[in-house]
Amino acid sequence: MVEEKPNLTTYNGLWVFAEQRDGRLMNVTLELLGAGRDLADALNVPLSAVLLGSEIGSMTQQLIHSGADQVYLVDHVLLKQYQTSIYTKTLASLISKHRPEIVLFGATSLGRDLAPRVAARLQIGLSADCTGLAVDCEKRFLVQTKPAFGGNLMAIIIIPDCRPQMATVRPNVMMRLEPQTSRTGKVIRVEDISLQAEDLCTRILDVIYDSDSTVNLQEARIIISGGRGLGKAENFKLVRELADVLGGAVGASRSVVDAGWISPYHLVGQTGKTVHPRLYVACGISGSIQHLVGMQTSEVIVAINKDPNAPIFSVATYGIVADLFDIVPVLIKTFREKLEKI
Ligand code: FAD
Repeated sequence: MVEEKPNLTTYNGLWVFAEQRDGRLMNVTLELLGAGRDLADALNVPLSAVLLGSEIGSMTQQLIHSGADQVYLVDHVLLKQYQTSIYTKTLASLISKHRPEIVLFGATSLGRDLAPRVAARLQIGLSADCTGLAVDCEKRFLVQTKPAFGGNLMAIIIIPDCRPQMATVRPNVMMRLEPQTSRTGKVIRVEDISLQAEDLCTRILDVIYDSDSTVNLQEARIIISGGRGLGKAENFKLVRELADVLGGAVGASRSVVDAGWISPYHLVGQTGKTVHPRLYVACGISGSIQHLVGMQTSEVIVAINKDPNAPIFSVATYGIVADLFDIVPVLIKTFREKLEKI
């Protein structure tokens, strides 16, 4: 049987899935709108945000101020808490009806769950975890870049034969736009999708936050990270203490996560989170390529390592060649004293 080729010219527009949690838009949504604005302008198509949830209408203006031309708003009580089945049904139905040529999701835990399900429902492909996006305006291809083979190779992916072209994009790699409150746009309230309780496969009885799983490295302004140079799990308390004093989050290299010294929620790098804090302090981390790809866009990087040839120094703003057990306690004491005086 020869499958009929879809008519690609009937697809138009660029969509960003507007991820929100507990009524707050995730940063990656705003970053995708920033990147999406350039791509949509190059293709000369509208940029739309798709917002799902319950009592979330107030977020539409933020999406427009951040670059969206229009917002598809599905405000329904059954969408209050994210659930794969009902979000998949809603989004797949919207995409089938409006036929955007590109749909972007943040590569967050939610985006990584939802995007493949939507792709499977629509029987199309998905490029996961992209770190770069561009467009070929002539062929109308989304040119997607993603690290492959342990970050040693950057793969360029295009999807010539099906639409929409869908990708998840890592948080903290795209630039958001400066919000413009003078920007105006259209809010399209979607009311013709029939959602019923049977669309929910699970019933949520209670939400209990695990304190470790709520570490929000991707939104942290200060991150203090520890690596194998800490020597043993108990020594992580030094990193935690410095993070506490500075009001930062705790990050980690993969060696220490693999060793079980700290939970994977703290992992920074290719298999962990990509972070973009104002300050990143690396304590006893060598700076493998897989770690660097996750943190090298931090605004200020301070590296503490006793090996002067450690690769981490190649990305450091300030490098301290010393034993971390001499330096970190001094930093804790000094910052504590200074901050107490403020
Ligand atoms: P090491 O490389 O062992 O470095 C320890 C450093 O501590 C050394 O530079 C040493 O000089 C220094 N040191 C020792 N004692 C002291 C002291 N007392 N004071 C100061 N400095 C000291 N890694 C990640 O981090 N994130 C990832 O997402 C990731 N993904 C990966 C994906 C793949 C497919 C692969 C193959 C690997 C991945 N890795 C990742 C692992 C990565 O290659 C490295 O093995 C890892 O980052 C090394 O961790 P480390 O720097 O803590 O340890």
